[in-house]
Amino acid sequence: MTVIRGATTIEQDDKEEIRKAVKELLEGIVERNELKRDEIVSMVFSSTSDIHAYYPAKAAREAGFGSTSLFSAQEPDIEGGLALCIRVMLFVERNIQPTHVYLRKAKRLRKDLSSIYNIAIDGPAGSGKSTLARALAESCHILYLDTGAMYRACGLKAVREKIDPDDELAVCDMMRGLSLEVEYRDGKQKTILDGEDVSEQIRGPQVTAAASAVSKFAAVRAKMVEKQREIAGKQSCVLDGRDIGTYVLPEADFKFFLTATPQVRAKRRCEELRAKGYDVSCEEIEREIRFRDEQDSSRAIAPLRKADDAVEIDTSEMTIEEVLETIKRKIQEKI
Ligand code: C5P
Repeated sequence: MTVIRGATTIEQDDKEEIRKAVKELLEGIVERNELKRDEIVSMVFSSTSDIHAYYPAKAAREAGFGSTSLFSAQEPDIEGGLALCIRVMLFVERNIQPTHVYLRKAKRLRKDLSSIYNIAIDGPAGSGKSTLARALAESCHILYLDTGAMYRACGLKAVREKIDPDDELAVCDMMRGLSLEVEYRDGKQKTILDGEDVSEQIRGPQVTAAASAVSKFAAVRAKMVEKQREIAGKQSCVLDGRDIGTYVLPEADFKFFLTATPQVRAKRRCEELRAKGYDVSCEEIEREIRFRDEQDSSRAIAPLRKADDAVEIDTSEMTIEEVLETIKRKIQEKI
């Protein structure tokens, strides 16, 4: 006999949410332990006292666990404990090495089982995200994933193949033949497009505009988001982008949203580009930034938006060191 444990949380006491969360938890346990459903002898659920809308055991029955004996109980309140939490113990006939599964906020219950953590940093162009994310990743000794670079690679492909980046059909077609890999060499992210390292080529103004245009299309986002989740699921990372906290990793352990005035952002971008040898005017960059803000915020799929649970930081008057210190302090406060 083996006992496998699992836990998950819901956002509100709602029947549909309970059904979904229980299904996801049980499927996760079955998959990660390579179980056959009929070898599960019984399941014992307990839920925190703020859950009334539905019995997790009923949800389990509906999720297809027909022949298992089920039991649900309510837990007494524990001070400082997780809210809206559902726990389960599964009794399995065979002797196996169990993999316990802790999802959503329940990851916090088992630090030993969830050594992977993700930090989401979202915000508009020039808000300081990438510099900050890189520095934060270095200081935490974890990976930095620049998701903008991935959209830029798609933009570069459109530019190279002379595809109108606003033409959805053409871009969708282009995506079918696109191969994109993210590699790390000496701790630095390399963006590999169709086998070629394009980490430098994706930084120019023409590619920047094309990236913002193509990233509004579902075909582009689906492919990029899948890759981002895959990378973030395997190791602890700092990810920066527009939709990390809201869409890519809504369960990220820490979320920040950086802002700054368009003037400050344009000045930063301008200096960055000039340092790379591009001959650019700050007025033009400001116009381009405002246009990109509008395009990124108003698109239908995963627009640039602060997640409700993200900490917002206006970096206009702050140095990178100050932002980094603020973020590290906020992380400490939450741990
Ligand atoms: O952050 P960066 O300026 O490199 O991003 C380039 C473009 O890629 C952005 O203007 C935005 O349209 C798109 N992007 C996105 N979602 C992300 C990251 C970037 O749509 N997570």
